[in-house]
Amino acid sequence: MSGSVAYTREDFLRLDAEDQLAAYRDRFDLPANTIYLDGNSLGAMPAHVPERFERILKKEWAHGLIRSWNDADWYPAPQRAGAKIAKLIDAKNNEVIVADSTSINLFKVLVAALRINKDRKVILGERGNFPTDVYIASGVAELTGSEVRCVDPEEVLDALNEDVAVLSLTHVNYKSGRRYDMAKITKRAHEVGALVVWDLCHSVGAMPVELNAAQVDFAVGCTYKYLNGGPGSPAFVFVAERHFANVDQPLTGWHGHAKPFDFDHDYRPHPTIDRMLVGTAPQLGILGLEASLEVFDNIDMNLVRAKSKALGDLFVALFDQHLQGLGVELRSPREGEERGSQISLSHEQAYAVMQAMIDRGIIGDFRAPDILRFGFAPLYIRYVDIWDCIVSLREILEQRIWDRPEFLARKSVT
Ligand SMILES: *Cc1c(COP(=O)(O)O)cnc(C)c1O
Repeated sequence: MSGSVAYTREDFLRLDAEDQLAAYRDRFDLPANTIYLDGNSLGAMPAHVPERFERILKKEWAHGLIRSWNDADWYPAPQRAGAKIAKLIDAKNNEVIVADSTSINLFKVLVAALRINKDRKVILGERGNFPTDVYIASGVAELTGSEVRCVDPEEVLDALNEDVAVLSLTHVNYKSGRRYDMAKITKRAHEVGALVVWDLCHSVGAMPVELNAAQVDFAVGCTYKYLNGGPGSPAFVFVAERHFANVDQPLTGWHGHAKPFDFDHDYRPHPTIDRMLVGTAPQLGILGLEASLEVFDNIDMNLVRAKSKALGDLFVALFDQHLQGLGVELRSPREGEERGSQISLSHEQAYAVMQAMIDRGIIGDFRAPDILRFGFAPLYIRYVDIWDCIVSLREILEQRIWDRPEFLARKSVT
């Protein structure tokens, strides 16, 4: 289908009938009459998870009690879940571990990178990155006597020079959906002797990520977005194996010790990725994540990416076809290759417009000050959802349905 064709709803139904990933939708428990375009914020729940929790809670916790750390194999869950994620991001099984939150993992790898590149003092970042990435970098800079330098995304390559100890970027921007060329930027960073940290929050689970092909040094990411790990599920951290021996991360907790159960007085880091651990794992969160990740067993991430791109391209085509002159602008790259798995539009009353959409069961989200965000989780979004979303959006804009007090009043989580 080319950009000049006027699409109909039937075209979208036909794409669903031909979709090789269509069957994945049945593996999720989604509410009826809802179009969920916010899987980039909180992924949907895989339908088998409650049954797994029933076992974890009643059998393993209630009756197994402390024996379950061994008998139910609780203890190695961070490594097991890490190995499952490793397959999706071109990492070795032993290079990824699940621990803590993205914010905390960023803190660990940024300090570690500065300690490896100890003659340099600059953390290079991007303006417009997700706030926690910038806040954590600032905290690290203050603690280590370094400097955070933030430049616009298109200036990153030019800003890479021999002052830079570590470049810290987010692969897909949370607001615009813009995607960096990971291989090209990592290569340039290495040419000037900088280490690289990639935040994969908006890419893991939505597209193949090529960490080792690009020779990335460190990566972090959350698991509650496209990986569907559940609210607040723990994050992951990737360290390239070549750095294991030199990673001196600052949160020297007992689970990162070479022999935690020797209860030694002195800290000795574990020789492997386990040194990225800090304290006792949020075990229920990790076990839930591990169950959720089974959806990705044997999946072809290239198919996932192809569908994600197609959904985005069609959204843009329908934007062109149906939303002109209605006060909305496209705020994501038109070119699928330059985009992650979301489209952002801007509107003066974006908050109220999104509330009116949610009132109709079409759930996207709002990002201050004026962004309407629509995320496409390819495993459970149908093509027809894109059509129905745009048709509703047009009605809401044309008829100013958003202009009601109940839609204009801000809630605490936006
Ligand atoms: C979602 C997201 C985070 C979340 O960090 P938490 O520590 O899990 O709250 C961080 N960075 C980016 C780029 C994100 O999109």
